[in-house]
Amino acid sequence: MTASEPVRVVILGGGTAGWMTAAALAKLLPGQADIHLVESEEIGIVGVGEATLPHLREFIRRLGLDEMEFMRRTRATFKLGIDFVDFGAIGERYIHPFGAYGTDIAGVGFHHYWLRMKAAEHVPPIGDFSLPIVAARAGRFAPIPDAGDFLDSSYSYAYQFDATRMAPMLRAFAEAHGVRRSEGKVVGVDRDGESGDVAALNTDRGETITGDLFVDCSGFRALLIGETLDSPWEDWSEWLPCDRAAALPCTAPGGPIEPYTRATAMPAGWRWRIPLQHRVGNGYVYSSAHLSDDEAAEAILAAVEGESLAEPRMLRFRAGRRKRSWSHNVVAVGLASGFLEPLESTSIYLVQAAILQLIELFPIGEIENADRDEFNRLIDYEYDRIRDFLILHYHASTRDDSTFWDQVRHMPIPDSLADKIALFRRAGRIERYSHGLFFEPSWIAVMIGQGVIPEGRDQRADAVDPRELSAALDRLRGQIASEVRRLPGHREALARLERR
Ligand code: FAD
Repeated sequence: MTASEPVRVVILGGGTAGWMTAAALAKLLPGQADIHLVESEEIGIVGVGEATLPHLREFIRRLGLDEMEFMRRTRATFKLGIDFVDFGAIGERYIHPFGAYGTDIAGVGFHHYWLRMKAAEHVPPIGDFSLPIVAARAGRFAPIPDAGDFLDSSYSYAYQFDATRMAPMLRAFAEAHGVRRSEGKVVGVDRDGESGDVAALNTDRGETITGDLFVDCSGFRALLIGETLDSPWEDWSEWLPCDRAAALPCTAPGGPIEPYTRATAMPAGWRWRIPLQHRVGNGYVYSSAHLSDDEAAEAILAAVEGESLAEPRMLRFRAGRRKRSWSHNVVAVGLASGFLEPLESTSIYLVQAAILQLIELFPIGEIENADRDEFNRLIDYEYDRIRDFLILHYHASTRDDSTFWDQVRHMPIPDSLADKIALFRRAGRIERYSHGLFFEPSWIAVMIGQGVIPEGRDQRADAVDPRELSAALDRLRGQIASEVRRLPGHREALARLERR
Protein backbone atom coordinates (compact mmCIF):
# COMPACT_ATOMS: atom_id res chain seq x y z
CA MET A 1 0.00 0.00 0.00
CA THR A 2 1.46 3.40 -0.96
CA ALA A 3 0.45 6.80 0.37
CA SER A 4 -1.23 7.73 -2.92
CA GLU A 5 -3.43 4.65 -3.26
CA PRO A 6 -6.75 4.42 -1.43
CA VAL A 7 -6.63 2.11 1.58
CA ARG A 8 -8.74 -1.01 0.97
CA VAL A 9 -11.01 -1.06 4.03
CA VAL A 10 -13.04 -4.18 4.75
CA ILE A 11 -15.81 -3.83 7.33
CA LEU A 12 -17.13 -7.04 8.86
CA GLY A 13 -20.69 -6.52 10.11
CA GLY A 14 -23.71 -4.49 9.10
CA GLY A 15 -25.25 -3.47 12.41
CA THR A 16 -25.32 0.08 13.69
CA ALA A 17 -21.52 0.02 14.12
CA GLY A 18 -20.79 -1.40 10.66
CA TRP A 19 -22.98 0.98 8.71
CA MET A 20 -22.02 4.02 10.81
CA THR A 21 -18.38 3.20 10.02
CA ALA A 22 -19.05 2.67 6.32
CA ALA A 23 -21.09 5.88 6.00
CA ALA A 24 -18.56 8.02 7.88
CA LEU A 25 -15.43 6.72 6.13
CA ALA A 26 -17.10 7.05 2.72
CA LYS A 27 -18.21 10.59 3.36
CA LEU A 28 -15.30 11.95 5.38
CA LEU A 29 -12.37 10.22 3.65
CA PRO A 30 -13.25 10.66 -0.03
CA GLY A 31 -10.59 9.13 -2.28
CA GLN A 32 -8.62 7.81 0.70
CA ALA A 33 -10.63 4.70 1.41
CA ASP A 34 -12.05 2.02 -0.86
CA ILE A 35 -14.74 0.42 1.31
CA HIS A 36 -16.25 -3.05 1.19
CA LEU A 37 -18.71 -4.24 3.85
CA VAL A 38 -19.70 -7.84 4.41
CA GLU A 39 -22.64 -8.86 6.56
CA SER A 40 -24.88 -11.83 7.12
CA GLU A 41 -28.65 -11.49 7.10
CA GLU A 42 -28.82 -14.99 8.54
CA ILE A 43 -26.89 -13.89 11.65
CA GLY A 44 -28.70 -10.55 11.87
CA ILE A 45 -27.97 -7.64 14.20
CA VAL A 46 -28.35 -7.20 17.94
CA GLY A 47 -31.33 -4.89 17.24
CA VAL A 48 -31.31 -2.97 20.51
CA GLY A 49 -29.64 0.37 21.24
CA GLU A 50 -32.32 3.00 21.08
CA ALA A 51 -31.28 5.74 23.48
CA THR A 52 -28.41 8.00 22.49
CA LEU A 53 -26.36 11.00 23.59
CA PRO A 54 -26.30 14.49 22.03
CA HIS A 55 -23.03 13.72 20.22
CA LEU A 56 -24.99 11.75 17.62
CA ARG A 57 -26.37 15.04 16.31
CA GLU A 58 -22.86 16.12 15.40
CA PHE A 59 -22.28 12.81 13.62
CA ILE A 60 -25.43 13.29 11.57
CA ARG A 61 -24.43 16.85 10.80
CA ARG A 62 -20.94 15.85 9.66
CA LEU A 63 -22.40 13.26 7.35
CA GLY A 64 -24.64 15.95 5.91
CA LEU A 65 -27.79 13.99 6.74
CA ASP A 66 -30.96 15.93 7.32
CA GLU A 67 -31.87 15.70 11.01
CA MET A 68 -35.60 15.79 10.37
CA GLU A 69 -35.38 13.08 7.72
CA PHE A 70 -33.30 10.96 10.09
CA MET A 71 -35.94 11.36 12.80
CA ARG A 72 -38.80 10.53 10.47
CA ARG A 73 -37.14 7.40 9.13
CA THR A 74 -36.07 6.04 12.50
CA ARG A 75 -39.33 7.07 14.20
CA ALA A 76 -37.23 9.03 16.66
CA THR A 77 -38.24 11.14 19.62
CA PHE A 78 -36.26 13.83 21.41
CA LYS A 79 -34.35 13.11 24.61
CA LEU A 80 -33.37 15.70 27.22
CA GLY A 81 -31.77 13.30 29.70
CA ILE A 82 -32.35 10.19 31.76
CA ASP A 83 -34.79 9.94 34.65
CA PHE A 84 -33.24 7.73 37.34
CA VAL A 85 -35.88 6.20 39.58
CA ASP A 86 -35.18 4.36 42.86
CA PHE A 87 -31.40 4.40 42.40
CA GLY A 88 -30.21 6.42 45.39
CA ALA A 89 -33.04 5.06 47.52
CA ILE A 90 -36.46 3.56 46.80
CA GLY A 91 -38.95 6.37 46.23
CA GLU A 92 -36.32 8.91 45.10
CA ARG A 93 -35.69 10.09 41.57
CA TYR A 94 -33.52 12.57 39.70
CA ILE A 95 -32.84 13.46 36.08
CA HIS A 96 -29.37 13.42 34.60
CA PRO A 97 -29.88 16.22 32.06
CA PHE A 98 -28.11 17.08 28.83
CA GLY A 99 -27.19 20.49 30.08
CA ALA A 100 -25.90 22.70 32.82
CA TYR A 101 -27.26 23.71 36.22
CA GLY A 102 -27.72 27.45 36.46
CA THR A 103 -24.84 29.56 35.39
CA ASP A 104 -21.39 30.32 36.81
CA ILE A 105 -21.20 33.41 39.01
CA ALA A 106 -17.86 35.27 39.12
CA GLY A 107 -16.19 32.22 37.59
CA VAL A 108 -17.45 29.85 40.28
CA GLY A 109 -19.67 26.91 39.39
CA PHE A 110 -23.38 27.32 40.13
CA HIS A 111 -23.57 24.21 42.30
CA HIS A 112 -21.26 25.83 44.88
CA TYR A 113 -23.80 28.65 45.36
CA TRP A 114 -26.59 26.12 45.56
CA LEU A 115 -24.61 24.19 48.20
CA ARG A 116 -24.11 27.38 50.14
CA MET A 117 -27.84 28.17 50.12
CA LYS A 118 -28.65 24.57 50.97
CA ALA A 119 -26.41 24.72 54.03
CA ALA A 120 -28.07 27.92 55.25
CA GLU A 121 -31.75 27.55 54.47
CA HIS A 122 -34.32 25.63 52.51
CA VAL A 123 -33.43 25.76 48.83
CA PRO A 124 -35.35 24.21 45.91
CA PRO A 125 -33.86 21.03 44.39
CA ILE A 126 -30.89 21.70 42.12
CA GLY A 127 -32.95 20.29 39.23
CA ASP A 128 -35.17 23.41 39.33
CA PHE A 129 -32.17 25.33 38.02
CA SER A 130 -31.73 23.17 34.93
CA LEU A 131 -33.83 23.97 31.87
CA PRO A 132 -33.68 20.44 30.41
CA ILE A 133 -34.82 18.93 33.72
CA VAL A 134 -37.75 21.31 34.13
CA ALA A 135 -38.73 20.83 30.46
CA ALA A 136 -38.43 17.04 30.73
CA ARG A 137 -40.63 16.92 33.83
CA ALA A 138 -43.19 19.10 32.04
CA GLY A 139 -43.06 16.91 28.91
CA ARG A 140 -42.08 19.89 26.79
CA PHE A 141 -39.47 20.30 24.09
CA ALA A 142 -38.23 22.60 21.34
CA PRO A 143 -35.04 22.35 19.31
CA ILE A 144 -32.47 24.87 20.48
CA PRO A 145 -32.76 28.13 18.52
CA ASP A 146 -29.58 29.19 16.69
CA ALA A 147 -29.61 32.65 18.18
CA GLY A 148 -30.83 32.00 21.69
CA ASP A 149 -30.05 33.56 25.04
CA PHE A 150 -28.00 31.97 27.81
CA LEU A 151 -30.85 29.64 28.78
CA ASP A 152 -31.00 28.27 25.26
CA SER A 153 -27.29 27.55 25.33
CA SER A 154 -27.63 25.74 28.65
CA TYR A 155 -28.99 22.53 27.19
CA SER A 156 -28.62 20.00 24.46
CA TYR A 157 -30.67 17.04 23.29
CA ALA A 158 -30.34 13.58 21.81
CA TYR A 159 -32.62 11.07 20.11
CA GLN A 160 -34.42 7.89 21.01
CA PHE A 161 -34.86 5.86 17.84
CA ASP A 162 -35.85 2.48 16.48
CA ALA A 163 -32.58 0.50 16.42
CA THR A 164 -33.71 -1.69 13.54
CA ARG A 165 -34.19 1.34 11.29
CA MET A 166 -30.79 2.98 11.76
CA ALA A 167 -28.56 0.55 9.83
CA PRO A 168 -30.79 0.38 6.70
CA MET A 169 -30.87 4.17 6.52
CA LEU A 170 -27.10 4.45 6.79
CA ARG A 171 -26.66 1.59 4.35
CA ALA A 172 -28.52 3.50 1.64
CA PHE A 173 -26.37 6.56 2.38
CA ALA A 174 -23.09 4.59 2.35
CA GLU A 175 -23.92 2.73 -0.86
CA ALA A 176 -24.77 6.03 -2.53
CA HIS A 177 -21.26 7.14 -1.50
CA GLY A 178 -19.60 4.17 -3.18
CA VAL A 179 -19.48 1.50 -0.45
CA ARG A 180 -19.70 -2.04 -1.84
CA ARG A 181 -21.61 -4.67 0.13
CA SER A 182 -21.42 -8.45 0.13
CA GLU A 183 -23.95 -10.76 1.65
CA GLY A 184 -22.51 -13.85 3.30
CA LYS A 185 -21.28 -15.44 6.48
CA VAL A 186 -17.55 -15.13 7.06
CA VAL A 187 -16.33 -18.67 7.64
CA GLY A 188 -12.58 -18.26 7.23
CA VAL A 189 -9.95 -15.61 7.84
CA ASP A 190 -6.58 -15.61 5.96
CA ARG A 191 -3.57 -14.15 7.72
CA ASP A 192 -0.24 -12.98 6.42
CA GLY A 193 2.33 -15.62 7.33
CA GLU A 194 4.96 -13.06 8.32
CA SER A 195 3.17 -10.16 9.98
CA GLY A 196 0.13 -12.02 11.28
CA ASP A 197 -2.07 -9.29 9.79
CA VAL A 198 -5.46 -10.24 8.43
CA ALA A 199 -5.21 -10.60 4.66
CA ALA A 200 -8.69 -11.71 3.54
CA LEU A 201 -12.14 -12.84 4.66
CA ASN A 202 -13.77 -15.88 3.08
CA THR A 203 -17.53 -16.21 3.01
CA ASP A 204 -19.82 -19.23 2.85
CA ARG A 205 -20.78 -18.07 -0.65
CA GLY A 206 -17.27 -18.65 -1.91
CA GLU A 207 -16.20 -15.00 -1.97
CA THR A 208 -12.72 -13.89 -0.84
CA ILE A 209 -12.48 -10.26 0.23
CA THR A 210 -8.95 -8.89 0.51
CA GLY A 211 -8.04 -5.64 2.25
CA ASP A 212 -5.36 -3.50 3.90
CA LEU A 213 -7.36 -2.47 6.96
CA PHE A 214 -10.17 -4.51 8.55
CA VAL A 215 -12.81 -3.03 10.80
CA ASP A 216 -14.37 -5.60 13.09
CA CYS A 217 -18.02 -4.67 13.58
CA SER A 218 -19.13 -8.27 14.08
CA GLY A 219 -20.81 -7.48 17.41
CA PHE A 220 -20.39 -9.69 20.47
CA ARG A 221 -18.84 -12.39 18.22
CA ALA A 222 -15.71 -10.23 17.76
CA LEU A 223 -14.68 -12.53 14.96
CA LEU A 224 -11.47 -10.70 14.03
CA ILE A 225 -10.30 -8.86 17.13
CA GLY A 226 -11.24 -11.70 19.47
CA GLU A 227 -11.50 -15.04 17.72
CA THR A 228 -8.75 -14.43 15.15
CA LEU A 229 -6.27 -12.10 16.86
CA ASP A 230 -7.09 -13.00 20.44
CA SER A 231 -6.68 -9.41 21.63
CA PRO A 232 -6.92 -9.76 25.44
CA TRP A 233 -10.16 -8.89 27.20
CA GLU A 234 -10.24 -6.75 30.32
CA ASP A 235 -13.11 -7.96 32.43
CA TRP A 236 -15.03 -5.45 34.56
CA SER A 237 -17.81 -7.67 35.85
CA GLU A 238 -16.52 -7.34 39.43
CA TRP A 239 -17.78 -3.72 39.29
CA LEU A 240 -20.58 -4.08 36.77
CA PRO A 241 -22.12 -7.48 37.52
CA CYS A 242 -25.17 -7.15 35.24
CA ASP A 243 -24.61 -9.63 32.42
CA ARG A 244 -28.01 -10.15 30.83
CA ALA A 245 -31.01 -8.26 29.54
CA ALA A 246 -34.60 -9.15 28.75
CA ALA A 247 -35.77 -6.72 26.04
CA LEU A 248 -39.47 -6.22 25.34
CA PRO A 249 -41.08 -3.61 23.07
CA CYS A 250 -44.63 -2.59 23.85
CA THR A 251 -47.31 -0.36 22.36
CA ALA A 252 -47.11 3.33 23.08
CA PRO A 253 -49.75 4.53 25.50
CA GLY A 254 -51.73 7.42 24.00
CA GLY A 255 -51.16 10.87 25.42
CA PRO A 256 -47.92 12.72 25.97
CA ILE A 257 -44.56 11.22 24.98
CA GLU A 258 -41.86 11.79 27.58
CA PRO A 259 -38.80 13.57 26.13
CA TYR A 260 -36.46 11.42 28.16
CA THR A 261 -35.38 7.86 28.84
CA ARG A 262 -36.25 6.29 32.16
CA ALA A 263 -33.99 3.94 34.13
CA THR A 264 -35.70 2.34 37.11
CA ALA A 265 -33.63 0.39 39.63
CA MET A 266 -34.88 -3.16 40.15
CA PRO A 267 -33.97 -5.77 42.79
CA ALA A 268 -31.31 -7.39 40.55
CA GLY A 269 -30.39 -4.51 38.23
CA TRP A 270 -32.51 -1.89 36.47
CA ARG A 271 -34.93 -1.52 33.62
CA TRP A 272 -35.05 0.92 30.74
CA ARG A 273 -38.05 2.62 29.18
CA ILE A 274 -37.45 4.43 25.90
CA PRO A 275 -40.47 6.13 24.29
CA LEU A 276 -40.39 6.22 20.47
CA GLN A 277 -42.97 7.67 18.11
CA HIS A 278 -44.66 4.34 17.39
CA ARG A 279 -43.85 2.14 20.40
CA VAL A 280 -41.92 1.99 23.67
CA GLY A 281 -38.67 0.05 24.12
CA ASN A 282 -38.23 -1.70 27.48
CA GLY A 283 -35.69 -4.02 28.97
CA TYR A 284 -34.51 -5.42 32.29
CA VAL A 285 -30.71 -5.41 32.66
CA TYR A 286 -29.86 -7.86 35.41
CA SER A 287 -27.23 -9.97 37.09
CA SER A 288 -27.69 -13.67 36.35
CA ALA A 289 -26.09 -14.45 39.71
CA HIS A 290 -29.08 -12.80 41.37
CA LEU A 291 -32.01 -13.50 39.03
CA SER A 292 -32.98 -16.28 36.64
CA ASP A 293 -33.93 -15.60 33.02
CA ASP A 294 -37.51 -16.68 33.71
CA GLU A 295 -37.79 -14.31 36.65
CA ALA A 296 -36.38 -11.47 34.54
CA ALA A 297 -38.83 -12.19 31.71
CA GLU A 298 -41.73 -12.25 34.16
CA ALA A 299 -40.59 -9.00 35.78
CA ILE A 300 -40.34 -7.10 32.51
CA LEU A 301 -43.69 -8.47 31.28
CA ALA A 302 -45.26 -7.24 34.50
CA ALA A 303 -43.56 -3.85 34.34
CA VAL A 304 -44.37 -2.65 30.81
CA GLU A 305 -47.16 -0.13 30.57
CA GLY A 306 -48.47 -0.99 27.09
CA GLU A 307 -49.34 -4.20 25.29
CA SER A 308 -46.29 -6.42 24.65
CA LEU A 309 -45.32 -6.55 20.97
CA ALA A 310 -43.16 -9.68 21.24
CA GLU A 311 -41.88 -12.26 23.67
CA PRO A 312 -39.05 -11.00 25.90
CA ARG A 313 -35.74 -11.30 24.03
CA MET A 314 -32.85 -12.52 26.17
CA LEU A 315 -29.39 -11.06 25.59
CA ARG A 316 -26.09 -11.98 27.24
CA PHE A 317 -23.00 -9.83 27.64
CA ARG A 318 -19.95 -9.15 29.77
CA ALA A 319 -18.80 -5.77 31.00
CA GLY A 320 -15.32 -4.92 29.81
CA ARG A 321 -13.25 -4.01 26.81
CA ARG A 322 -10.44 -5.21 24.62
CA LYS A 323 -7.05 -4.23 25.98
CA ARG A 324 -6.24 -3.14 22.41
CA SER A 325 -9.15 -2.18 20.18
CA TRP A 326 -6.71 -1.75 17.30
CA SER A 327 -4.45 -4.75 16.93
CA HIS A 328 -2.38 -5.56 13.80
CA ASN A 329 -4.48 -4.22 10.92
CA VAL A 330 -7.83 -4.79 12.68
CA VAL A 331 -9.78 -2.00 14.37
CA ALA A 332 -12.72 -3.10 16.51
CA VAL A 333 -15.73 -0.79 16.56
CA GLY A 334 -18.97 -1.34 18.47
CA LEU A 335 -19.78 -4.40 20.53
CA ALA A 336 -16.70 -6.20 19.15
CA SER A 337 -14.49 -3.72 21.04
CA GLY A 338 -16.24 -3.89 24.42
CA PHE A 339 -19.47 -3.51 26.30
CA LEU A 340 -20.78 -1.26 29.02
CA GLU A 341 -24.37 -1.69 30.04
CA PRO A 342 -26.76 0.89 28.55
CA LEU A 343 -27.43 2.71 31.85
CA GLU A 344 -26.17 5.98 30.35
CA SER A 345 -26.83 5.16 26.66
CA THR A 346 -23.13 5.20 25.82
CA SER A 347 -22.53 2.39 23.29
CA ILE A 348 -23.46 4.24 20.13
CA TYR A 349 -21.41 7.18 21.39
CA LEU A 350 -18.44 4.77 21.70
CA VAL A 351 -19.03 3.64 18.13
CA GLN A 352 -18.95 7.25 17.01
CA ALA A 353 -15.84 8.06 19.08
CA ALA A 354 -13.96 5.10 17.60
CA ILE A 355 -14.93 6.04 14.04
CA LEU A 356 -13.91 9.68 14.44
CA GLN A 357 -10.63 8.64 16.05
CA LEU A 358 -9.96 6.21 13.22
CA ILE A 359 -10.57 9.00 10.73
CA GLU A 360 -8.12 11.26 12.60
CA LEU A 361 -5.47 8.51 12.63
CA PHE A 362 -6.29 6.97 9.28
CA PRO A 363 -3.22 5.28 7.76
CA ILE A 364 -1.26 7.19 5.17
CA GLY A 365 0.52 4.34 3.45
CA GLU A 366 1.59 1.67 5.97
CA ILE A 367 -0.11 1.38 9.37
CA GLU A 368 2.20 2.96 11.96
CA ASN A 369 2.57 1.66 15.50
CA ALA A 370 2.38 5.22 16.81
CA ASP A 371 -1.07 5.73 15.25
CA ARG A 372 -2.32 2.42 16.57
CA ASP A 373 -1.06 3.17 20.09
CA GLU A 374 -2.62 6.62 20.08
CA PHE A 375 -5.96 5.17 18.99
CA ASN A 376 -5.86 2.61 21.78
CA ARG A 377 -4.86 5.19 24.37
CA LEU A 378 -7.77 7.45 23.48
CA ILE A 379 -10.33 4.66 23.28
CA ASP A 380 -9.17 3.37 26.68
CA TYR A 381 -9.93 6.80 28.16
CA GLU A 382 -13.40 6.70 26.69
CA TYR A 383 -14.18 3.31 28.17
CA ASP A 384 -12.53 3.93 31.54
CA ARG A 385 -14.38 7.16 32.19
CA ILE A 386 -17.75 5.72 31.30
CA ARG A 387 -17.01 2.68 33.48
CA ASP A 388 -16.38 4.85 36.54
CA PHE A 389 -19.50 6.89 35.90
CA LEU A 390 -21.66 3.78 35.65
CA ILE A 391 -20.22 2.24 38.80
CA LEU A 392 -21.11 5.43 40.69
CA HIS A 393 -24.83 4.73 40.08
CA TYR A 394 -24.51 1.45 41.95
CA HIS A 395 -21.98 2.38 44.58
CA ALA A 396 -23.71 5.61 45.67
CA SER A 397 -26.95 3.94 46.66
CA THR A 398 -28.50 3.33 50.04
CA ARG A 399 -30.69 0.49 48.78
CA ASP A 400 -30.50 -2.56 51.03
CA ASP A 401 -33.55 -4.43 49.78
CA SER A 402 -31.74 -7.22 47.90
CA THR A 403 -28.46 -9.14 47.81
CA PHE A 404 -27.69 -7.46 44.48
CA TRP A 405 -27.84 -3.95 45.94
CA ASP A 406 -25.95 -5.05 49.05
CA GLN A 407 -23.19 -6.37 46.81
CA VAL A 408 -22.85 -3.33 44.55
CA ARG A 409 -23.13 -0.87 47.42
CA HIS A 410 -20.26 -2.49 49.31
CA MET A 411 -18.02 -3.63 46.47
CA PRO A 412 -14.52 -2.15 46.24
CA ILE A 413 -14.46 0.46 43.47
CA PRO A 414 -11.65 1.53 41.10
CA ASP A 415 -9.20 4.02 42.66
CA SER A 416 -9.97 6.47 39.87
CA LEU A 417 -13.62 6.59 40.98
CA ALA A 418 -12.80 6.63 44.69
CA ASP A 419 -10.63 9.73 44.04
CA LYS A 420 -13.45 11.47 42.18
CA ILE A 421 -15.93 10.81 44.98
CA ALA A 422 -13.45 11.99 47.64
CA LEU A 423 -12.79 15.18 45.69
CA PHE A 424 -16.50 15.90 45.41
CA ARG A 425 -17.32 15.01 49.00
CA ARG A 426 -14.71 17.39 50.34
CA ALA A 427 -15.75 20.60 48.58
CA GLY A 428 -17.95 19.83 45.58
CA ARG A 429 -15.01 19.69 43.19
CA ILE A 430 -15.10 17.67 39.99
CA GLU A 431 -12.05 16.12 38.38
CA ARG A 432 -11.51 17.84 35.07
CA TYR A 433 -10.45 16.09 31.90
CA SER A 434 -10.62 17.04 28.29
CA HIS A 435 -10.93 13.60 26.76
CA GLY A 436 -13.77 11.16 27.31
CA LEU A 437 -17.38 11.44 28.32
CA PHE A 438 -19.16 13.09 31.20
CA PHE A 439 -18.14 16.50 32.35
CA GLU A 440 -19.03 18.54 35.41
CA PRO A 441 -22.86 18.72 35.12
CA SER A 442 -23.16 14.96 34.66
CA TRP A 443 -21.08 14.14 37.74
CA ILE A 444 -23.00 16.74 39.75
CA ALA A 445 -26.32 15.25 38.59
CA VAL A 446 -25.53 11.72 39.70
CA MET A 447 -23.58 12.60 42.86
CA ILE A 448 -26.23 14.96 44.21
CA GLY A 449 -29.06 12.89 42.73
CA GLN A 450 -27.86 9.86 44.67
CA GLY A 451 -27.18 11.68 47.89
CA VAL A 452 -23.44 12.38 47.75
CA ILE A 453 -23.62 15.84 49.27
CA PRO A 454 -20.28 17.67 49.71
CA GLU A 455 -19.19 18.65 53.21
CA GLY A 456 -17.79 21.95 51.96
CA ARG A 457 -17.78 24.18 48.90
CA ASP A 458 -15.67 26.63 46.96
CA GLN A 459 -15.09 29.42 49.49
CA ARG A 460 -15.44 32.05 46.78
CA ALA A 461 -19.16 31.27 46.72
CA ASP A 462 -19.40 32.83 50.18
CA ALA A 463 -18.28 36.22 48.87
CA VAL A 464 -21.69 37.08 47.41
CA ASP A 465 -24.21 38.84 49.65
CA PRO A 466 -26.73 36.17 50.80
CA ARG A 467 -29.81 38.26 50.02
CA GLU A 468 -28.50 39.04 46.55
CA LEU A 469 -27.72 35.39 46.02
CA SER A 470 -31.14 34.27 47.16
CA ALA A 471 -32.78 36.81 44.82
CA ALA A 472 -30.56 35.72 41.91
CA LEU A 473 -31.51 32.08 42.44
CA ASP A 474 -35.21 32.95 42.61
CA ARG A 475 -34.91 34.97 39.42
CA LEU A 476 -33.14 32.18 37.57
CA ARG A 477 -35.66 29.60 38.70
CA GLY A 478 -38.51 31.84 37.55
CA GLN A 479 -36.85 32.47 34.19
CA ILE A 480 -36.44 28.75 33.57
CA ALA A 481 -40.02 28.02 34.59
CA SER A 482 -41.41 30.69 32.28
CA GLU A 483 -39.14 29.67 29.39
CA VAL A 484 -40.40 26.09 29.75
CA ARG A 485 -44.05 27.22 29.79
CA ARG A 486 -43.47 28.70 26.32
CA LEU A 487 -42.23 25.40 24.88
CA PRO A 488 -44.65 23.11 23.05
CA GLY A 489 -45.43 19.63 24.34
CA HIS A 490 -43.12 16.92 23.01
CA ARG A 491 -45.84 15.39 20.81
CA GLU A 492 -46.57 18.80 19.32
CA ALA A 493 -42.83 19.36 18.69
CA LEU A 494 -42.76 16.05 16.77
CA ALA A 495 -45.90 16.98 14.84
CA ARG A 496 -44.29 20.31 13.85
CA LEU A 497 -41.40 18.29 12.49
CA GLU A 498 -43.77 16.31 10.28
CA ARG A 499 -45.37 19.49 8.97
CA ARG A 500 -42.02 20.96 7.85
P1 FAD B 1 -24.51 -6.03 15.91
O1 FAD B 1 -25.74 -5.24 15.80
O2 FAD B 1 -24.59 -7.34 16.62
O3 FAD B 1 -23.99 -6.29 14.43
C1 FAD B 1 -23.06 -7.31 14.14
C2 FAD B 1 -23.00 -7.50 12.64
O4 FAD B 1 -21.96 -8.42 12.33
C3 FAD B 1 -24.28 -8.05 12.02
O5 FAD B 1 -24.52 -7.42 10.78
C4 FAD B 1 -23.93 -9.52 11.78
O6 FAD B 1 -24.67 -10.07 10.74
C5 FAD B 1 -22.46 -9.40 11.43
N1 FAD B 1 -21.71 -10.62 11.59
C6 FAD B 1 -21.35 -11.24 12.75
N2 FAD B 1 -20.65 -12.36 12.49
C7 FAD B 1 -20.57 -12.46 11.14
C8 FAD B 1 -20.00 -13.39 10.24
N3 FAD B 1 -19.37 -14.48 10.67
N4 FAD B 1 -20.12 -13.15 8.94
C9 FAD B 1 -20.75 -12.06 8.46
N5 FAD B 1 -21.33 -11.15 9.25
C10 FAD B 1 -21.24 -11.34 10.57
N6 FAD B 1 -26.43 1.41 22.82
C11 FAD B 1 -26.81 2.68 22.98
O7 FAD B 1 -26.11 3.60 22.53
N7 FAD B 1 -27.98 2.98 23.62
C12 FAD B 1 -28.76 2.03 24.17
O8 FAD B 1 -29.82 2.34 24.72
C13 FAD B 1 -28.34 0.69 24.09
N8 FAD B 1 -29.05 -0.32 24.66
C14 FAD B 1 -28.57 -1.59 24.60
C15 FAD B 1 -29.22 -2.62 25.29
C16 FAD B 1 -28.70 -3.91 25.29
C17 FAD B 1 -29.37 -4.97 26.08
C18 FAD B 1 -27.54 -4.22 24.53
C19 FAD B 1 -27.01 -5.61 24.48
C20 FAD B 1 -26.91 -3.21 23.82
C21 FAD B 1 -27.39 -1.91 23.87
N9 FAD B 1 -26.73 -0.87 23.21
C22 FAD B 1 -27.14 0.41 23.36
C23 FAD B 1 -25.58 -1.17 22.36
C24 FAD B 1 -25.97 -1.10 20.87
O9 FAD B 1 -27.03 -1.98 20.62
C25 FAD B 1 -24.78 -1.42 20.00
O10 FAD B 1 -23.68 -0.65 20.38
C26 FAD B 1 -25.06 -1.15 18.55
O11 FAD B 1 -26.24 -1.75 18.13
C27 FAD B 1 -23.92 -1.63 17.69
O12 FAD B 1 -23.93 -3.03 17.59
P2 FAD B 1 -22.91 -3.67 16.58
O13 FAD B 1 -23.15 -3.11 15.23
O14 FAD B 1 -21.54 -3.58 17.16
O15 FAD B 1 -23.30 -5.23 16.61
